[in-house]
Amino acid sequence: MTEHILIVGGGQAGMQIAVSLREDGFEGSVTIVGEEHHGPYQRPPLSKAYLAGEADEESLELRLPQFYVDNKIVVIPSEKVVSLSWGAEHGVAVTDTGRELPFHKLALTTGADPKRLTCDGADLDGVLYMRGLDDANELKARWADINDIVVIGGGFIGLEVAAVARKYNKNVTVVHSRDRLMSRAVGPVVSDFFLEAHTKRGAKVLLEKRLTKLHGENGTVTGVELQDGNVIPADAVMVGIGVAPRGELADQLGLERAENGAIVVDSHARTSDPRVVACGDVAYLPHPLGGEGMVMLESVQNAVDQAKLAAKSLLGGEEEYRAVPWFWSDQADLKLQMAGLLQGYDQQVVRGNLDEDKFSVLYYKNGRIIAVDAVNDVLDYMAVRRALTAGQNIPADLAADSAVALKTIVTD
Ligand SMILES: Cc1cc2nc3c(=O)[nH]c(=O)nc-3n(C[C@H](O)[C@H](O)[C@H](O)COP(=O)(O)OP(=O)(O)OC[C@H]3O[C@@H](n4cnc5c(N)ncnc54)[C@H](O)[C@@H]3O)c2cc1C
Repeated sequence: MTEHILIVGGGQAGMQIAVSLREDGFEGSVTIVGEEHHGPYQRPPLSKAYLAGEADEESLELRLPQFYVDNKIVVIPSEKVVSLSWGAEHGVAVTDTGRELPFHKLALTTGADPKRLTCDGADLDGVLYMRGLDDANELKARWADINDIVVIGGGFIGLEVAAVARKYNKNVTVVHSRDRLMSRAVGPVVSDFFLEAHTKRGAKVLLEKRLTKLHGENGTVTGVELQDGNVIPADAVMVGIGVAPRGELADQLGLERAENGAIVVDSHARTSDPRVVACGDVAYLPHPLGGEGMVMLESVQNAVDQAKLAAKSLLGGEEEYRAVPWFWSDQADLKLQMAGLLQGYDQQVVRGNLDEDKFSVLYYKNGRIIAVDAVNDVLDYMAVRRALTAGQNIPADLAADSAVALKTIVTD
């Protein structure tokens, strides 16, 4: 009997599970079903090089079509799975075309959706989001008609879009509700640096401001009204206020979900039913470095590494997920690279020169390095990432001398 593994969601994690299943020797059938009209592609360039016109659509593809043929991976695009159930022998997924797909084991890699605005005017034309290729194409098609763009949310995606918009000489205003940029992911030194950097490059950045409604004319957005009554003119509004995991299908199989909607998995990427794994943006997972609590990690690194492990778990493996989280963001000529998780740090060391747009911030807890944020400083970033991966330390007192190469002072 052929064993069927079905992967719901044709993104970074879904594709990686399929690839890893084959690499690990699985000979049964592997099917990826995804609702998007495109085969699996990379999202990071959507708000960076692709949006800036520096990369084409083909370059986003994760694998060439022939790869799936060669590896006997069936990819079904443009179909959304709407129901999942278990029978006595196997499970069945039904898509929105009525197609039935049997499975013996299942992977849920349904990713996340951008959180939507709910205020007055939220459904006006010109209110845009950035999750998929179609979203990026929509903004690209509008560039010529945009003079004033307001970005809601000073996280990575919002700031990347803001940087590209400045490249096209648009009037850019970033409205952020918190007191510093990218505050969930980077430390204050880096937030302050990027505030100044975006301002220097011509964007207007408003911190601790909330929008109350959007103004429009003839169904199209014309402005963003803030709580203080000010109205910022806008012929496009890009909303980047975080994501909501798409865990809803899990309910049909009675799988455990977190309060935030994500699917709860263990350190093997298994859901509360061991026949079903979940990984990538939809998963709520134990801290990947053995720290306390559960986390959601929206990154390529996590989607890929967790998917590799999920594939092993589907094949009966017992490996635990241990991975150093890393992430990057390109904003204008600034490459920000992060490794580790800085939550709970009690000491920091700043190296390099902020005025020259090249520096790093190392974060410590109880004398041990736990994370780094680096701007245009790949050597410091790589040294810390390698040390974290090897479970080594980079003593803060030695790291404080920027002239010293970090890789020369690594200790156990
Ligand atoms: C604009 C942008 C920029 C980013 N930049 C970076 C970056 O610089 N660095 C970084 O590390 N990460 C970045 N990320 C995050 C990274 O792309 C994600 O963490 C990663 O794509 C997650 O992979 P995933 O497979 O879990 O989800 P996704 O890639 O979102 O794939 C999920 C897929 O499942 C499909 N799906 C959902 N429900 C169903 C259903 N019921 N039936 C069928 N299909 C379904 C979705 O349509 C989607 O295609 C960025 C993300 C975006 C949107």
